[in-house]
Amino acid sequence: MKVGILALQGDFAEHIASLRPLGVETVEVRLPEQLKDLEGLIIPGGESTTIGKLATSYHLIEPLRRFSQDRPIWGTCAGAIFLSNDTRRQQPLLNVMDITVERNAFGRQVDSFETELSIPALEDPDKPYRAIFIRAPIIENVGEGVEVLARLPKERGDGDRIVAARQGHLLATSFHPELAGDDRFHRYFLGLAKG
Ligand code: GLN
Repeated sequence: MKVGILALQGDFAEHIASLRPLGVETVEVRLPEQLKDLEGLIIPGGESTTIGKLATSYHLIEPLRRFSQDRPIWGTCAGAIFLSNDTRRQQPLLNVMDITVERNAFGRQVDSFETELSIPALEDPDKPYRAIFIRAPIIENVGEGVEVLARLPKERGDGDRIVAARQGHLLATSFHPELAGDDRFHRYFLGLAKG
């Protein structure tokens, strides 16, 4: 199985390192022709404005939109922002997922945190998933046809907010599974890519 990682900016190396032990061939994607023959694509965390600007100058926006029509894409953090159709700011977006996100919803870099989530869609659903949030967005609203996969625990002051969602073969997470040392989310995505 061959999965691409958009490698314009951000922590694409950590996604590659997470996929290798799962026996997946990985391709760093910087040019439209590198999307050929891929069974799925991951858009990493980083800075969504930078990813969007670079994708625009590398002529990747339309090829990525076409890719999203029939192949799985998973955006983590900045990648989730880039997949969304609204951030209430001016920035280049793929506009392919019917979600509205609020960037930096928890404040600045120093307000980054880890918390345990319950994610019923993963293997071993009773085992909490330790999620890492780094200057993370929240998913404010999801459209019809978008399934909520995880919310923050209610006990947090800002609890109950959506942090993972799926629209068919498109996946968005506010947090960073590539840093979690728990491969269940990557395996879940590979399951989507296998169809
Ligand atoms: N704050 C970044 C943004 O708005 C996302 C941070 C991340 O990907 N860890 O794009």
